Amino acid sequence: MATNWLPFASYNLWLQFAPAIGQEHLHCDMKRGFAKARNKEPQVKALLEQDSIPQQIGILAQRGVYEFHQNTDLLHQLGGVQQIAEILQLSQKSLEIQERVISILKNYRDNPILVGKNIIQLSRGDEGYPEPILIREGNYLFKFYAAIDCIFSLTDDTLHILDFKTGKSNFDLRQGYIYLLAASYLYPQRQAIAIFYNLENGKWSEPISATSETLKCFQIELTLIAKRHQKDLSRYRARTAEFSQIFPPNPGVMCSFCSFNSICKFSPCEVAA
Ligand code: SF4
Repeated sequence: MATNWLPFASYNLWLQFAPAIGQEHLHCDMKRGFAKARNKEPQVKALLEQDSIPQQIGILAQRGVYEFHQNTDLLHQLGGVQQIAEILQLSQKSLEIQERVISILKNYRDNPILVGKNIIQLSRGDEGYPEPILIREGNYLFKFYAAIDCIFSLTDDTLHILDFKTGKSNFDLRQGYIYLLAASYLYPQRQAIAIFYNLENGKWSEPISATSETLKCFQIELTLIAKRHQKDLSRYRARTAEFSQIFPPNPGVMCSFCSFNSICKFSPCEVAA
């Protein structure tokens, strides 16, 4: 089946339509426009290829956990953290990134939460897009992307879908349900729970579980998001001059942290045309 041109949905796309609770003031539709409609333009593409500091820390932290589990002896060896730092080429990163990632690696060495668990999948963190799951809702077919950090099981058959966090952001329940929806397609015979763990402060979320009715609701929501996004993309392709009507800007304090502030004419901190 040719699936290249199918619409898609993901938690990340959902976030770009509806931010997490408490983040509403940071929401801007135009960011979605740059990231998803204008992503092939050279300037936009170049900006998208530059990971922000929080993104770099998240990727390096995940990679650090992955490398510890490639060689668990490093969890017990003097200098184990330093060896992982060298694998991650941390010395080439900024001081802030080095300090935070070293602290994360030490935290994990002191509390290696995956040791003793049956690890079914552990991502490196830099794999890019996962294989899409094809979802058919009614007569609408779309690709569903869910990048899962880790799947493990304990003594029972339940799958634990674990998402690593860094920084201070709160856990977003919607993301947990999205993982459970993915698990229901990838492992239809298995019970699953989703859980978050912050590698910087050592906090766990409550485990999240869902009935098939709840997952169906999330699937319908994702379908609506895929349709809305597909419609916006079609409108933009038909009338590129209407970019700011299709993806309205919401300039404000968040522009200072926006990846597109150097090319966005609505940004108070625009620095290049
Ligand atoms: S710079 Fe501001 S207005 Fe422009 S896309 Fe970013 S957040 Fe939106």
